[in-house]
Amino acid sequence: MQGMIPQEYPFPQYAEDLTRVQVIETCIKMKQHFRDHDRILISVSGGSDSDCIVHLVCKYFPEYVEKCHFVFVNTGLEYAATKRHLDDLEEKYGIKINRIRGKSVVTVIRSSGIPILSKIKSKFLGLYIRGFPSGEKYVFGDGYKVKKLQFTENQKRLAIYLKSNAISVSSKCCDDSKKKPIHTYIHTYGIDLNCTGEREAEGGQRAMIHKSCFECKEKGPDKYMPLWWWDDYVKADFKAAEGITYSDCYEVYGMKRTGCCGCPFNLDIARDLQAMYEYEPNLYKACMNVFGLAYELTDRFNCRRKKCLPDSFQMTIEQEIERGNEN
Ligand code: SF4
Repeated sequence: MQGMIPQEYPFPQYAEDLTRVQVIETCIKMKQHFRDHDRILISVSGGSDSDCIVHLVCKYFPEYVEKCHFVFVNTGLEYAATKRHLDDLEEKYGIKINRIRGKSVVTVIRSSGIPILSKIKSKFLGLYIRGFPSGEKYVFGDGYKVKKLQFTENQKRLAIYLKSNAISVSSKCCDDSKKKPIHTYIHTYGIDLNCTGEREAEGGQRAMIHKSCFECKEKGPDKYMPLWWWDDYVKADFKAAEGITYSDCYEVYGMKRTGCCGCPFNLDIARDLQAMYEYEPNLYKACMNVFGLAYELTDRFNCRRKKCLPDSFQMTIEQEIERGNEN
């Protein structure tokens, strides 16, 4: 297998042998999948995982760059640091990143409801609040156990509060703001390989859904996750040895991951809000306006071990917005 990667590939000196082995294995698979497909979509989020993929592709497989579509989905709420970073990536690697948009998260949330707790819980809370016959069972009965999804007592109290105050909940912005524009792009350009940055080491639902870095699909493009087997150490070693610079979200604001800006599903949202408040106050203000109620209610009903709002920020949403306005 290793013969497929020429000896002269300019791998730098990684700190760990394991990194070299992992990178070579990734390159072997990447070469094979890129050779076997004609129109490749590379999702570029401006985050660290997609940075590593863009670097791998552009440095080690320049012969395939022409058939790659680098695509960034703008949800309407994005870090200025991410936007600057996309420009930097284009300049550094000489590529064009297609910035596409669906409905903005602000529009979808205003018309469908706030996302809260997690995507799957938002979906079933939405059903419950709208009075679907099965909704109550899902929230309070055994229905969730089947799906390995249970609401805590505090989350059940939150559900009752949401329903009695007619507060709409929905995870629809994931579909309308992120998935649909990608699907449209895939359809429009006949993409046959969809390349994304998920890693098994991130855990969560994704780690349970995927079993391998490549999935051959009967319908639509095949899915390829080049970094699937990389743990955090391999990724950090790769970054250092290859001289990759992440966006200011990481390098200056100190974030560990970027994800979807301001999303209440993010377990580290308090830390990110703190960074936003310091470095991107207008974005902070926008997130408080859009997601503030979700943060406040999650904290008020003690629905998670980690708070949504930073300790020093535990005040009413009105006060938070006012504080954002002061910047
Ligand atoms: S991750 Fe969160 S903010 Fe982003 S689209 Fe999905 S629900 Fe909306």
